[in-house]
Amino acid sequence: MQRDTQIFDLIDQELDRQRHGIELIASENFTSLQVMQAMGTVPTNKYAEGYPGKRYYGGCEIVDQIETLAIERLKKVFNASWANVQPHSGASANAAVFLACVKPGDKVLGLDLSMGGHLTHGSPANFSGKNYEAIFYGVKKETGLVDYDQLEEKALKEKPKMIICGASAYSRDWDYKRIREVADKIGAIVFADIAHPAGLIAKGLLNDPFDHCHVISSTTHKTLRGPRGGIIMLRHDFENTWGVKDPKGNTRTMSQLLDLAVFPGTQGGPLEHVIAAKAISFGEILTDDFTKYAKQVISNAQAMAKAFVSRGYDLISNGTDNHLMLIDLRNKNLTGKKAQETLDKAHITLNKNAVPFDDKSPFVTSGIRVGVPAVTTRGMNESDMETVVSMIDKVLTNIDDEKVIADVKADVKQFMQKFPLYPEL
Ligand SMILES: *Cc1c(COP(=O)(O)O)cnc(C)c1O
Repeated sequence: MQRDTQIFDLIDQELDRQRHGIELIASENFTSLQVMQAMGTVPTNKYAEGYPGKRYYGGCEIVDQIETLAIERLKKVFNASWANVQPHSGASANAAVFLACVKPGDKVLGLDLSMGGHLTHGSPANFSGKNYEAIFYGVKKETGLVDYDQLEEKALKEKPKMIICGASAYSRDWDYKRIREVADKIGAIVFADIAHPAGLIAKGLLNDPFDHCHVISSTTHKTLRGPRGGIIMLRHDFENTWGVKDPKGNTRTMSQLLDLAVFPGTQGGPLEHVIAAKAISFGEILTDDFTKYAKQVISNAQAMAKAFVSRGYDLISNGTDNHLMLIDLRNKNLTGKKAQETLDKAHITLNKNAVPFDDKSPFVTSGIRVGVPAVTTRGMNESDMETVVSMIDKVLTNIDDEKVIADVKADVKQFMQKFPLYPEL
């Protein structure tokens, strides 16, 4: 077959773009070479519907070993008692959690999307808002911190079946214990979606949700630095309280319901080549190198936050506990859209983001979200954060000056040569 140079040329161009730019999108990272290589391998050809030892197809003896290793390593990473590594993405993992834990029309309580929550936590545009009755809690206007009093008030009044915690644009840690105490008053399930900070939680650098939350989901490609995908985990398995029985009349446990919700509930065949890459990344997370990485992520985020504050930027909650920060640009007379688009021209990539109580549309927004997982993987330290912020500030304070933007773009390209990306490629 003729090699598809059209597509491979574009892939080369994307590698070049990733090498030369400063990547500050908080949800992105760079996998190791071996994680990436595993994704381009032959398990992609294999159908393996079902689970290790219980497949609907023959020839699964090797992929069974791959998937079993992925599960065992992941359980070790989070000290979990059960894990499912098949979800194709974070959104797919969450669809399965909803299917297992609540019935269509049931009430669920999540963090408002406009306050940092995720689409899959009840947004009207998403399955979670269309099939379930979603209500929301927010953050406090003065502090930018999750309003746990409001969460409790809404939970006691509305009695949701499930309370969802976790966010895509929240820079502070969570009080999982408090949420569980609220949930226990109304018999609700607590579902923690740790898609963003999972890599920091894995290393004990943030509060541990596993003892307080019934069900935990995550992506694998953000701070966990694995391939694009999703996972679901439990530390303590339990019988479902709504009495779903198996054919023998036994009450199904939560782990059984979750397995069934992933397959056949919401997915078909698993991506065993991606599961192989997940297994490799979980192995990497168990090393001391990853501990060092996760600690550096937090140090870099702190250094970056300090550098922004010293230049008069308005950080929501005044700082960060994790890998990201949310910046309100209204005091700089800028929109998130304008900032994102202009920084893009200088090859500094980040995303516009609504800030809590934003007065602009989600397409414009008043803020930007800035994260350090990817630049930390590139090898940057605290002093590099100062350099990065000075370049961002130069663009944002000369927002219509094409000459300055071109200068910064050249500076960025030269600066990034200090941080090689995939030199083997
Ligand atoms: C990124 C994210 C997801 C979704 O992950 P995808 O892999 O993009 O589907 C789900 N929940 C939260 C909180 C996220 O930040």
